[in-house]
Order: sequence, then C-alpha cells, then structure tokens
Amino acid sequence: MYKLIDGKVISAAVKERVKNEVAELKTKGITVGLAVIIVGEDPASKVYVSNKKKACEALGILSREYALPESTTEDELLNLITKLNADPEINGILCQLPLPKHLDEKLIINSIDPEKDVDAFHPVNVGKIMIGDYYFLPCTPAGVMEMLKYEGIEVEGKNCVVIGRSNIVGKPMNMLLLHKNGTVTICHSRTKNLAEICRNADILVAAVGKPNFVTADMVKDGAVVIDVGINRLDGKLCGDVDFENVKEKSSAITPVPGGVGPMTIAMLMQNTLTAAKKHNGLI
Ligand code: NAD
Repeated sequence: MYKLIDGKVISAAVKERVKNEVAELKTKGITVGLAVIIVGEDPASKVYVSNKKKACEALGILSREYALPESTTEDELLNLITKLNADPEINGILCQLPLPKHLDEKLIINSIDPEKDVDAFHPVNVGKIMIGDYYFLPCTPAGVMEMLKYEGIEVEGKNCVVIGRSNIVGKPMNMLLLHKNGTVTICHSRTKNLAEICRNADILVAAVGKPNFVTADMVKDGAVVIDVGINRLDGKLCGDVDFENVKEKSSAITPVPGGVGPMTIAMLMQNTLTAAKKHNGLI
C-alpha cells in the first residue's frame, strides 16, 4: 500500500505559516511585496503568473505585475529591474521564464539584486546553495524537500537518484538532497543504464519533461517517487512517471497534478517572506 504525497495539503500548510508571519509583520508596519515580470504572450507563463498573483493576494503579500509586450527591449527590461531593485516596497523580483528569444536570460537574471532574487536563479544564490549557506532555495526543489520533511521521509544515507540536470530543477535538487546527507546520483540524457541506476534508488526524483518516462521496471519496491514533470498527454496534464503502474511499487508517490506543482508557488511565497525579513533586519 502506497502513501499519496498530497502537494495541495502540504502547500496549504506552508502557505498558512507564511500568511501568519506576513500578518505578524504587518503589525510591525512591515509589508511584504513581490514584483512579477512577464514579457510576451506565452499562455503557460500567463497561467503561472496569474497563480502567483492569486497566492500573494490570499496570503496578504503585495503583488505588482508588470506585463510587458513581446517587443520589450533588453534596456527597457533592465531599467525596470533596476527600479525594482531600489524599490523599498518590493522584497522579491521574479522574471517569468522563458523570455522571448531576443532577450538574454542570463543578463536579465544577473541584473536582479540577489537579495530580491526569490527564484534563487542568480549566480550568487546558486553559489550559496552549493556551499550550503543559503537563505533562498529554488522553489521547485525546495518544495520537494518540504514534502519529504512533511512526510517524515529521511534522506540521510538513502540512495537518491535525480533524473534531470537543469539549472532550475535537477542540479539544485541534487545539492539539496546532498545537504541532507543523501547519496545522490544525477542522471541525464546521456546516462547509460538509466533503468538500472533508477532501480537502486530509495528516493527517485523525475525532472525530465516526458510523459510516462519512469516506468514500473525502473522503480525498486518500496521506493519514494517524486514526479516533478508537468506535461500534456492527449490534452491532459501528467507528470514524468507512469503513475498507474508505478504507484503500487512505491511506498510513497506524488501525483500530477496536485503534487510538486502547488509546492513551487508555496515556496515562492516563503522566499518572498524570507526576503522581507532579511530586508528588515529580522534574520
Ligand atoms: P529541462 O528540459 O531543462 O531538463 C530536462 C532534463 O531531463 C535534462 O537535464 C535532460 O538531460 C534530462 N533528460 C532528457 N531526456 C532524458 C533521457 N532520455 N534520459 C535521462 N534524462 C533525460 O527541464 P526542467 O526545466 O528541468 O523541467 C523538467 C520537468 O519539470 C518539465 O516537465 C517541467 O515542466 C517540469 N517543471 C515542473 C515544475 C513544478 O513546479 N512542478 C517546475 C519546473 C519544471
């Protein structure tokens, strides 16, 4: 019998904690504020931005949305970020990726003040994560760690396998599991014997972006399976794991939707709160 790890329940617990702390800061005259920048018309990005805005409103966080046209120049975007870096009402700045092709993502991310970089994509924050001296964690991997903690799943000494090595999910996921003393293996598109490596995992994290990529034969009996993927198959949302066939082999598994997805936004809210506390000398 497997345990369904419910991202809706766990994210609600995180958000409740953040909401209470935001309210407490308000009594001290401190407002928590997030600026979300979106450039262009990407429909998925629009949905993500709207969900972030709704979450801010529900938790008492001031949210300012900057919806810029596709034709926005690099200088215009950099000017906006410079203004937001200096804006005392704004604690967190998030620039929704992907950006249109004519904008240099690296340059844009690097222009965000690392203390307002609530996505934790700035090289300063990436470096801090590497050495284990961080205040922000990238939202999706942080959400996974929060799920493991909530469910009382011990990482120390476990064989952890992460499929995917992207800068926003796979690599930081590896570091966070390592910080918790997991024995971590990173797999990617050039990995040989992927199924065999996965079968050795006590904790298997899939961040690939391919529906039904993780099949039952890749999963050890009793493994914890975390599905980060968000894909569409025949118009339906699904993850990277063949959920129906893998669930019975696992001891615990996240669904898609309702798994890691809701955690990402909750951790963004937590990072924004952390930024506000840091800006006000409270941590
Ligand atoms: P990405 O495309 O940047 O990275 C995918 C990774 O998968 C790469 O490192 C690649 O090496 C690996 N890969 C591809 N084919 C493989 C193969 N055949 N064997 C082994 N590894 C292979 O994607 P990403 O940004 O890391 O996102 C991964 C998935 O997670 C996507 O579905 C994305 O939508 C989803 N995602 C979800 C959330 C969330 O909030 N739940 C957040 C971010 C990303």
